[in-house]
Amino acid sequence: MPVVSQQSCEVKVDGVWHAATLAEARSRHTMAQKRCPACQGQIIIAGTYFGEGTLKLQHRRSHTGCPLKSDTYNGSPVPHPQALA
Ligand SMILES: [Zn+2]
Repeated sequence: MPVVSQQSCEVKVDGVWHAATLAEARSRHTMAQKRCPACQGQIIIAGTYFGEGTLKLQHRRSHTGCPLKSDTYNGSPVPHPQALA
């Protein structure tokens, strides 16, 4: 399983998902849909507008099958029940 950084996500641009850092998604793709690169659930980017270090990927609905959420992860990766396609 590929290592996925907490600092990246996927954004939908012209109907195609692209990998982007949280900072890019936040600044250049403000209105685009964003999803978790691991479970593909919808995410929001929390943090301040300025300073990349404080941005944080947050799932819109928490999900125990996502390895990026170590506090709720139950050990087996499962796609988000409301994964974005
Ligand atoms: Zn996830």
